[in-house]
Amino acid sequence: MMNYKTMFAAAPASSGYDTLVVGAGFAGSVLAERLASQAGQRVLVVDKRPHIGGNAYDRFDDAGLLVHPYGPHIFHTNSADVFSYLSQFTSWRPYQHRVLASVDGQLLPMPINLDTVNRLYGLSLTSFEMDGFLASMAEKIEHPQTSEDVVVGRVGRDLYNKFFKGYTRKQWGLDPSELDASVTARVPTRTNRDDRYFTDTYQAMPLHGYTRLFENLLAHPNIHVMLGTDYRDIVHLVPWRHMVYSGPIDSFFDYRFGRLAWRSLDFEHVTVQPPRGQSLVQPVGTVNHPNDHLYTRVTEFKHLTGQVHESTSLVYEIPRADGEPYYPVPRAENTAVFRRYEAEAEQLSDVTFIGRLASYKYYNMDQVVAQALAAFKRLTKSTSTVTTP
Ligand code: FAD
Ligand code: UDP
Repeated sequence: MMNYKTMFAAAPASSGYDTLVVGAGFAGSVLAERLASQAGQRVLVVDKRPHIGGNAYDRFDDAGLLVHPYGPHIFHTNSADVFSYLSQFTSWRPYQHRVLASVDGQLLPMPINLDTVNRLYGLSLTSFEMDGFLASMAEKIEHPQTSEDVVVGRVGRDLYNKFFKGYTRKQWGLDPSELDASVTARVPTRTNRDDRYFTDTYQAMPLHGYTRLFENLLAHPNIHVMLGTDYRDIVHLVPWRHMVYSGPIDSFFDYRFGRLAWRSLDFEHVTVQPPRGQSLVQPVGTVNHPNDHLYTRVTEFKHLTGQVHESTSLVYEIPRADGEPYYPVPRAENTAVFRRYEAEAEQLSDVTFIGRLASYKYYNMDQVVAQALAAFKRLTKSTSTVTTP
């Protein structure tokens, strides 16, 4: 990876860059790769962190276990385009994520499915009977608007209280009634026994990890990477023609309309020795704790990575109000503030805003990749409009 000094040696400041990319996460790295390899551009990628990959960055810990320092990242998409694009930069390890929720002294499948209901209530419903059962539990809600409405309208108050209410209050510091429906709507309800967390067509982990994938994305000779640097420290020193910005949009505009609400997390990593004869300590990749503890969920990385190692590493996620901006908080009053920033952003023809932080959208990785690929098409289309006589 190129550092600050070699970057300047390789690219004298006088020659400048076509594009300055702020952020080496999926948004910035994908756009940098496209601009360099498909449009022949000279690109400088700058990130204030000391590594590439943004929140998807992974690394080997002191024991040699591959871990995700910013929380578990499981790749899943229905987009053949996104999957085949990324497949140029990584091989894959097929992986279907499973989650159990610790409720009433049992570990039960999440999303709620037929087995969840049967085991929780001591029933033996069939798939055919499950629809009727849920309908009998559900409250009638004409126009579901909040994260409470969407769950209570689907599965009723008891399942809502046991699986969603406490988790959501911990994760967001808000009651589900104060959050857009889209938040809890991410988690479906199933009348069958499918216990996979995701049902997307493509579900896999980068075979050699995310960081290797990012190294390959950024390997083009026309891309220079500068780490440990806030873009503000170089933005007036390095010549560039266009900026791609994937940091928080409120920070870009110096919080002129106030700070956007973000939710943060502490990640507590622990490495343990599994009991003799075992290689894992959890039955599945993630165990959710909706009703007890300060943490929301515990993930054991070896499930995700398939790594063979005598120890095992887990991460506990403890939500907090301040700190790194990990999650936009989807609710109307925040969207209203974002709209003001968005209107400012639209005035700036030399800056493209993309990614989860600049779009203030609760995007998964594949959605960010799709957004970056679409932005590339848009940017190069307008370039060719200008240069074509
Ligand atoms: P980021 O990865 O946040 O990258 C933005 C980069 O910009 C950062 O590296 C930051 O340092 C840099 N930056 C910001 N400001 C500046 C500045 N002033 N100067 C220089 N650099 C700056 N998605 C999934 O699909 N599956 C999952 O399982 C999944 N799990 C997740 C778990 C957690 C705990 C979190 C928080 C997110 C998860 N996601 C998951 C979402 C995923 O992390 C994002 O969709 C994706 O990483 C966003 O990429 P990005 O490039 O937009 O942003
Ligand atoms: N959720 C919940 N209980 C769970 C899992 C999820 O209440 O056991 C709610 C919670 O509000 C959470 C949201 O559904 O923030 C989205 O869950 P997801 O697993 O998609 O969250 P992420 O992986 O993005 O943190």
